[in-house]
Amino acid sequence: MKCQACGRSDSMEYNCSRCGRTFCVNHRLPESHDCPGLELQKAQRADRRADGEEVPWFSQEVDLTDPPGRSSSSAIRTVAQIVLVLFILAVIGALAWTLI
Ligand SMILES: [Zn+2]
Ligand SMILES: [Zn+2]
Repeated sequence: MKCQACGRSDSMEYNCSRCGRTFCVNHRLPESHDCPGLELQKAQRADRRADGEEVPWFSQEVDLTDPPGRSSSSAIRTVAQIVLVLFILAVIGALAWTLI
């Protein structure tokens, strides 16, 4: 049998457990011969990631961060209003001092 990646016939032959083809010692690893089984596994892993594992995690994350995010932005608005009032008071104070 020849290596199906480089065509070399070696005394040592390896069968890929993912695609079942025969390879030499240099190409026996799935990564070394562009194994279709490896691509399939990657695709399956990507699919699983797409419809299960990460989507609920992400939406859960949004659910958790959204209400505190809203309340903190209204808190920032309240602080901004207080700062604005203090600023106006300071300006009025400064004007009063210049008038005296
Ligand atoms: Zn080879
Ligand atoms: Zn393979």
